[in-house]
Amino acid sequence: MGYNELTPFEKEMEQTLLEMKSALQSKISKSDTDFKNLVGTGGTGDSVDIASDDLASKKMEAIGKIDAGKLNAINQAIVRIRNGKYGVCAMCGKKIPEDRLRAIPYALLCMPCKRKSER
Ligand SMILES: [Zn+2]
Repeated sequence: MGYNELTPFEKEMEQTLLEMKSALQSKISKSDTDFKNLVGTGGTGDSVDIASDDLASKKMEAIGKIDAGKLNAINQAIVRIRNGKYGVCAMCGKKIPEDRLRAIPYALLCMPCKRKSER
């Protein structure tokens, strides 16, 4: 009930997205551990090393943002599969070619809209 009948292509893409999601989540939790190791040793917080710690944490933060953004896009794509909206461009509403979705399973925009949004 309430679960849309998925096409073989949608099933395949859902599988791919779920795999990407778990791979990304383990990568994020790993970098989280790396981050804690980086900052958490010693733990007394002497001010001497703050500059380098700060730089390291900014770098980790930047990496985390990219991964978090990708994870978000993957989650959205999975939701769209379940809503029967997968493969429809979020901007113009046209179908995104399957070739593009195979290359980037979490793509929310067709190529023309993607180009426009990058400008
Ligand atoms: Zn479009």
